[in-house]
Amino acid sequence: MKIMSVNSGSSSIKFKLFEMPSEKVIASGQVDKIGFEDAGFEIEFNGKEFEKTLPIKSHTLGAQLIINGLIEHKIVKDMKEIAAVGHRIVQGGEVFKEHTIVDDKVLQQILDLADMAPLHNKAHVISIKAFREVLPNVPHTVVFDTVFHSTMKEDAFMYAVPYFWYTDHGIRKYGFHGTSHKYVSELTNKILGNKKDSKVIVCHIGNGASISAVRNGVCVDTSMGFTPLDGIPMGTRTGAIDPAILNYIGEKLNLSSAEVYEILNKKSGYLGISGVTSDARELEQSIAEGNKRSKLAFDLQAKRIADYIGSYYVYMEGVDAITFTAGIGANSPRLRKLVCDRLKALGVKIDDKLNEAKAQEISTKDSKVRVFVINTNEEVVIARETLKLIKRKA
Ligand code: ADP
Repeated sequence: MKIMSVNSGSSSIKFKLFEMPSEKVIASGQVDKIGFEDAGFEIEFNGKEFEKTLPIKSHTLGAQLIINGLIEHKIVKDMKEIAAVGHRIVQGGEVFKEHTIVDDKVLQQILDLADMAPLHNKAHVISIKAFREVLPNVPHTVVFDTVFHSTMKEDAFMYAVPYFWYTDHGIRKYGFHGTSHKYVSELTNKILGNKKDSKVIVCHIGNGASISAVRNGVCVDTSMGFTPLDGIPMGTRTGAIDPAILNYIGEKLNLSSAEVYEILNKKSGYLGISGVTSDARELEQSIAEGNKRSKLAFDLQAKRIADYIGSYYVYMEGVDAITFTAGIGANSPRLRKLVCDRLKALGVKIDDKLNEAKAQEISTKDSKVRVFVINTNEEVVIARETLKLIKRKA
């Protein structure tokens, strides 16, 4: 059975087609710059890659292009071969504690949550509608970033603000990257031999970055909050800062709160500190050239990651394993070492050679906490959840 995972933004659609339940990737690709004359379409299968540049006016045309591409390259005979499509959704609020099959009511509920994730939820709905138009006879599912974190208790998810902000306006920590935290913590637990009461900390460090504390397979805390701006510094985001800064700097620089918010989201983090780049590889290059602010950008992030790990160690009453994942976590030995060197108080020791070699386990034999490096796979979680949902329905 073929299941497609879809991850859409306001101008892009990324997809992966899986054979399920074997989880073999049959094809993958993307449409980007939707709405532009020079939009792009890429498709990859059997080690072959095809690309073209063309105007793509809408998500519907993008979805059509993907399905036509699959047929044209004989990856599927016709669209009936696609048994279901799973769509990634960033914000499920408290409405969605489980992933679900899409109907009109679900679409409206996702739109109703768009105020909390304006950049994401609206684009997701546009994309789901597009795929439903192109593939009207297959089930579509929605898999939420927030669902994995919905198990947090009040002491972890509440902010100390007037209580009605929570009850009337949904102000609380939701957490994001849930599918990645789920995939990576499950795999870590497997390596740990599915031990009872396992305590795992997942560091998902990509352009966006978040940490989660997972006890016995269940998320108990995470660093991103009401939005993905909270937590540790990222490529362009601040992570947590004193909220009093917003008002102060707005007055000093004559900026509206929307303008300050934009800067906190898009011009801060690595980019803001270094003044050079938001990209970790370019940052490493700039450090090699002696740029002190680029070094500070990494150091600052590493300190904050270590701070979260320390607090989760206390919250879970110990930790068995710390796992690094995503673009930077899985690929930057420098970042992993910077973080682990700050965890001596927890008895964390890594082997520099294993770290450089990106071994699956990089801790030394006498480390009190095992340290792993695992590539994340959010798309496969979407395909797995989709398969579960359509089986349940059948
Ligand atoms: P997102 O999905 O949040 O956009 P990714 O998880 O793809 O982000 O991570 C992107 C980041 O990973 C970029 O900063 C990129 O430079 C970094 N990255 C990718 N490969 C490497 C590498 N080999 N060494 C260091 N950083 C890397």
